[in-house]
Amino acid sequence: MTDFSREREAMVERHLKRRGITEPHIVNAFLAVPREEFVSPDYAHLAYGDHPLPIEAGQTISQPYVVALMIQAAAIKGGDQVLEVGAGSGYAAAVISRIAGQVIAIERQHDLIELARQRLERLGYDNVEIVEGDGTKGCPDRAPFDAILAAASGSHVPRALVGQLAPNGRIVMPIGDSGWVQELVKVTKKDDGILRQENLGGVRFVPLIGEEGWKDD
Ligand code: SAM
Repeated sequence: MTDFSREREAMVERHLKRRGITEPHIVNAFLAVPREEFVSPDYAHLAYGDHPLPIEAGQTISQPYVVALMIQAAAIKGGDQVLEVGAGSGYAAAVISRIAGQVIAIERQHDLIELARQRLERLGYDNVEIVEGDGTKGCPDRAPFDAILAAASGSHVPRALVGQLAPNGRIVMPIGDSGWVQELVKVTKKDDGILRQENLGGVRFVPLIGEEGWKDD
């Protein structure tokens, strides 16, 4: 039988710590979340490779290193109110919930939502709420957010997301062509409302589909 906790520790050592993700609160969050529970049993034995894996509705669970990089870039800390756009399996939301105060994770694919909700409830993640909707419009009822992470790529940062950021809030999102490599971008809203943008390197994500994203074919 697979010893998932040993595999999880090895993944954190090899794919996170050795690649510069060493902050204890991030490392501990990844050690606390059983990724094998967020994929179908057919893929559980692959759960601790550093790669995306297929989930229902033709979507993917993101690569652990990239989730860690986004959490690090967004400087998520205790007490933060965080929005994740693209809840998918709920894995990244579960990891973020080990650090932040409250996580709102929005997902447009109805089939994924019930699965993610049941999984998070069964595993006891009671500070994560999965909301159904178009994440390009954010989640105005639950704003403002200290950090917003988008797990799908758009041509630009949707205006609604910028509007729902708290002062000193951070958005981390892949920006670029929908079918190819994108740039991971961090936007910080300064106290005076001025936005600062930094580029963090190349990534590859599924497209953000919605009113201020790509159109569904
Ligand atoms: N974070 C997820 C996880 O840990 O499993 C992986 C997310 S997957 C790479 C991207 C997700 O974004 C897909 O589930 C897709 O349906 C969702 N998505 C795409 N456009 C969206 C939108 N406008 N609003 C909400 N979710 C969206």
